Amino acid sequence: MNYLEMKHIKKHFDELEVLKDISLNVREGQVVAIIGPSGSGKSTLLRCATMLEKIDDGELSYLGERAAYSQNGEAVYEAPGKLKQLKSYYGLVFQNFNLFPHYSVMKNICDAPIRVQKREKKEVQEQAKVLLKKMGLEDKADAYPYQLSGGQQQRVSIARALCMNPKILFFDEPTSALDPQLTGEILKVIKDLAAEHMTMVIVTHEMNFARNVADHIVFMENGVIVKEGAPEELFTSDNQRIKEFLGKFQ
Ligand code: ADP
Ligand code: MG
Repeated sequence: MNYLEMKHIKKHFDELEVLKDISLNVREGQVVAIIGPSGSGKSTLLRCATMLEKIDDGELSYLGERAAYSQNGEAVYEAPGKLKQLKSYYGLVFQNFNLFPHYSVMKNICDAPIRVQKREKKEVQEQAKVLLKKMGLEDKADAYPYQLSGGQQQRVSIARALCMNPKILFFDEPTSALDPQLTGEILKVIKDLAAEHMTMVIVTHEMNFARNVADHIVFMENGVIVKEGAPEELFTSDNQRIKEFLGKFQ
């Protein structure tokens, strides 16, 4: 089943066409890496997929349920109640962690499941403890974000996303604010999630990671998906643009 389906998505900011007719499917259990030069529209693609940003035109569906469709060359969104339900299908992990600075680790993780999903506090806290243990942070429940390293903060933010029990996790350059050692920590966590068949879409500049962990790679440039396919296909492509881009990481 397609967990995410994007069809002919268009998005512009003033004169700038940032997404030009983007179509992308993500199947259950798939790990998709999105790569490409800075400014190519990768973050905008994630922000449109997760409805942080409205699309101008095209179709967006989660698990076969429509969030937006195209009518007379314009995107029409479903009613707020429906969108709320669809939003519960995914979580998003940002480059800069985006934790609430005035909340403890525990409260950062439990706040949305309790307030938005209306779940029992006790049950959510139990799940949060399990997730913290999984992230190697069982002793940090009462800490505040400023007391944690960047790698620890990012692991809290992954635990926070997982505590919503999402069907898909989106990551926007989850390691680019971290030094190499902490980067390894986070990549390991994502790799473990992949081994558990978590469906994920990851924008990354970590080419080795993308090659080894993703089962599908999307190369974007100038608001267009230039090529997508299996890692080996992308990494051995003779497409000049892709070769040039990958060459920068050697
Ligand atoms: P990437 O994540 O691949 O680096 P982005 O999606 O962040 O690319 O940006 C793509 C283009 O859209 C860039 O030229 C960027 O300046 C522009 N852009 C992104 N967000 C906005 C915005 N909110 N307003 C205006 N321009 C934007
Ligand atoms: Mg970006």
